[in-house]
Amino acid sequence: MSDDRDPEATLREWKESMQAEHAEAIANPDPDADHAVEAVVQPSERIRFGYEGGELVEQERERIEADEPELFACACGVHGMTRKEAREHLAAVRD
Ligand SMILES: [Zn+2]
Repeated sequence: MSDDRDPEATLREWKESMQAEHAEAIANPDPDADHAVEAVVQPSERIRFGYEGGELVEQERERIEADEPELFACACGVHGMTRKEAREHLAAVRD
């Protein structure tokens, strides 16, 4: 009654804001931080969440194939970058 927001829209907005922040962090590295790839993560599972009765709950868990791209983490704290994003991030530091 009081909350008639579409949960899908809420999740979509959250994802978009996360992606915008992520893209911003990649494109504009913090000039005061050290930048160097410090970790590579090879995810083995993808977990999907959805809303049920207003609660965000796990709905599905799937194994990720070995050829999924690994994710890079920078020493400045930016994580979850693809190889391409990591390259862009480090290139932006040098600009
Ligand atoms: Zn960095």
